[in-house]
Amino acid sequence: MIDLDNLTIKKANEAFKNKEYTPRELTEEYLKVIDKRNGSVNAFREVFTADALKRADEAGDLFAKNKATILTGIPIATKDNILIKGHIAGASSKILENFVAPYDATAIARLREAGAVFLGRTNMDEFAMGSSTENSAYGPTHNPLDETRVPGGSSGGSAAAVAMNGALIGLGTDTGGSVRQPGALCGLVGFKPTYGAISRNGLIAMGSSLDQLGTLTKNVDDSEIIFNAVRGTDKMDSTSFYPDTKYEIPKKLTIGVPRNLLEGLDTEVADNFEESIGRFEDNGFIVKDISLPNLKYALAVYYVIMPAEVSSNLARFDGVRYGVHKEGKDLLEDYINSKTEGFGRETRRRIMLGTYVLSSGYYNAYYNKAVAVKDLIRADYDSAFKDVDLVLTPTTPTAAFLLGEKTSDPLKMYLEDVFTVPANISGNPAISIPSGTVKVGEVELPLGVQLVAPHYQEDLLFNISKNFLGE
Ligand code: GLN
Repeated sequence: MIDLDNLTIKKANEAFKNKEYTPRELTEEYLKVIDKRNGSVNAFREVFTADALKRADEAGDLFAKNKATILTGIPIATKDNILIKGHIAGASSKILENFVAPYDATAIARLREAGAVFLGRTNMDEFAMGSSTENSAYGPTHNPLDETRVPGGSSGGSAAAVAMNGALIGLGTDTGGSVRQPGALCGLVGFKPTYGAISRNGLIAMGSSLDQLGTLTKNVDDSEIIFNAVRGTDKMDSTSFYPDTKYEIPKKLTIGVPRNLLEGLDTEVADNFEESIGRFEDNGFIVKDISLPNLKYALAVYYVIMPAEVSSNLARFDGVRYGVHKEGKDLLEDYINSKTEGFGRETRRRIMLGTYVLSSGYYNAYYNKAVAVKDLIRADYDSAFKDVDLVLTPTTPTAAFLLGEKTSDPLKMYLEDVFTVPANISGNPAISIPSGTVKVGEVELPLGVQLVAPHYQEDLLFNISKNFLGE
């Protein structure tokens, strides 16, 4: 029996090297758990059993030949919007149902090169729009810690996969919190790097100025290892860049808490957050109040810019080449019928919102204004970082909520992202780390706190998060 609960990349790598078990045996162990739990959790849309075992065998050969890397034989679950050559990438949407990826996403190609094993593709909110994975066209994912609750979203499938021991690593995408929020709700580390740090080539776009690949892992070190393997400039994505400079981590670190954003928090979340502050202080950090005055507009800005980009990115899905196709009496009706059938409610809502804010009569009033406030939000962080090294908030305003609890009220659902969207708007790196559990009704549910750092200072995030978790 392999102790999957406490497994990390480094431990698995040691075990492979010491021949305690083979990459194939590890992959088989995860496949067994998936077999047992996926029926009710619905973390995976598809398990690549044959392919995964083949790659695991190849990983074994690499160890035998002394050609293995730290990632050789490491089993990874990938969100359904990340392209893996030869496999379907459907973004959990009917409109992309049969789309087979013709190439690897750059991040996947880099992990493939390093010898990683791809276990399968995970369920998600359709096109990554949602905070609970209830917007998938293929049914919701359940939180493996309490199956009556949501795992968060939109990368809820990848989070659930890792939380149920169905994969060592989960890959997700984060446009407004979709890695950090499910990380918090499933008791995991959820990490979103600086915008552009990882190539977006081969990710199905949602909001191109906000999207970033991110990781869901059981500890910070695993996120760091994956990040270092996939980051960096890629000629296929002109927004990708990572500097070579190493930033010195200061000896005495100051953490800023924007109190103005924290009013009206649930008591469990507020108490957990205060305890976390105490933990940072006990570990020798200075914690002080800061003001980020424009962050109160972040959610409003996000829900203008994101749908605008969604409406433009999703215009290409017309039901002609793959996915749902519904005949009409002419071409226009073909499009209307196919899009009506192929896109779910939330996706259609956002396309309409986006089309509205971009239309000529409203462009200045909404889109242009949101873009102007985006700059102010970024400037708020820049000025805060003159004074403090990191910004700390809770990751989410609540612990995992019940399935169905927020589906009828989109605004309530959007509020889930209140603490996570600012870092996408400003492009700063951010991480959610587990901060203990709270009792909700009869169950203990995990919460997370979020740290945000200046651009490209991922090392600082990893370092402080490890300190907090005692890694
Ligand atoms: N929950 C947010 C939304 O629905 C964030 C999604 C994401 O990060 N992909 O837009």
